Amino acid sequence: MNGSRTFTMIKPDAVEKGVGGAILKQIQESGFKIIALKQTKLSLEQAQKFYFIHRERPFYNDLCSFMSSGPIIPAILEKENAVEDFRKLIGATNPANAEAGTIRKNYAESIDKNAIHGSDSDENAQIEGNFFFTEVERF
Ligand code: ATP
Ligand code: MG
Repeated sequence: MNGSRTFTMIKPDAVEKGVGGAILKQIQESGFKIIALKQTKLSLEQAQKFYFIHRERPFYNDLCSFMSSGPIIPAILEKENAVEDFRKLIGATNPANAEAGTIRKNYAESIDKNAIHGSDSDENAQIEGNFFFTEVERF
């Protein structure tokens, strides 16, 4: 392995707008290697399971219904310092606060429709990658 791994999902708002390919291009041009990739759609129950960590937050129900509202593009990515560097590449949770050139500044509309997810730790990257991908889906 060359570096560490993180997990991402291009969210329903960005897939719906047809900017999934442009976002993947920016990710690759920023030095991340794609280890696993697909397009899929979560049921409400699957979204609730994925975001279980946020179950007490006031936005949990809205988040789960949004994340199950349309197709998403999950991926496992590899790079040195992957988790931290990818969080920098996507920018602040609220695109209004995201730095110029970040994926959320470029493609997100609002804090709840913010185009992309990035894992917040090595441990969560592994858990989240395992949620979507089997061993034979990683290269
Ligand atoms: P992500 O986990 O999607 O990469 P994040 O780590 O920047 O985003 P979290 O605090 O983990 O932010 O929140 C998960 C998601 O919940 C956010 O991406 C956003 O879509 C939504 N969210 C967070 N805070 C709010 C809020 N105050 N109002 C509405 N939605 C929110
Ligand atoms: Mg998060």
